[in-house]
Amino acid sequence: MRKPLAAGNWKMHNTLGAGRDLVSGIKAGIEGGLTGEVATEVLVCPPFTLLYPLKETLAGSPVMLGAQNVHEEEKGAFTGEVSVSMLADAGCSHVIIGHSERRHVFGESGERLNQKVRAVLAGSDMTVIYCVGETLNDREAGQTEQVVGQQMDEVLGPDVPADRLVIAYEPVWAIGTGKTATPDQAQEVHKFIRARLSSIYGEEAADGLRILYGGSVKPGNAADLMGQPDVDGALVGGACLVADDFVAIIKAAASSVR
Ligand code: PEP
Repeated sequence: MRKPLAAGNWKMHNTLGAGRDLVSGIKAGIEGGLTGEVATEVLVCPPFTLLYPLKETLAGSPVMLGAQNVHEEEKGAFTGEVSVSMLADAGCSHVIIGHSERRHVFGESGERLNQKVRAVLAGSDMTVIYCVGETLNDREAGQTEQVVGQQMDEVLGPDVPADRLVIAYEPVWAIGTGKTATPDQAQEVHKFIRARLSSIYGEEAADGLRILYGGSVKPGNAADLMGQPDVDGALVGGACLVADDFVAIIKAAASSVR
């Protein structure tokens, strides 16, 4: 059985007061709701500036802390960058790598993402949430599987331990656009991803790996998406900034346990 994961990517939103209010709202909303046998994991990924203070706010709660990005070098003259050990020190258990905004806005290549993943694995105990997804052009050209498969091949391999990896399928055309993949569209790609994982890790390990869906997940569509057999949770952008909405998505994830 795969435990679902509800992960919130805050992107470049919230200063300290608003961030504390948001995690307090999430904690209050899930209190008692994640203690049963049927539970989901919950992760918030705020901006770097909020990691240390939110580590304190989250102490003792089941909500985990993650980062949105990391630099591949351990230290040095890399103005503006943040290293693996800094994230681990700040209390992160997860780091998102390869988000479409990193690929498309900041031009991060597969080679660079490969280096980042390996730096996280070598320098910490953190889990990597590796994002893949096609653009609308790719989809319309019938290239979805080719693009997603290539993004996986560029970074994954037997040296990336399956138990420190989560995949997030995030079609670029669905991120922040209000256009969500239908549950069938999501399941089709998730099934393809799991088959590809199976060819890397073997069927048993691939069956245990979580594949999140991301792209305009909202309280109203979360249950249908996570009800698909290969959708094991969500990576949420806009809706994770409103505590009640994120809590509703967390509850949908918890109810999706099969
Ligand atoms: C994201 O940023 O990973 C994301 C999925 O955003 P949104 O939920 O706003 O589409």
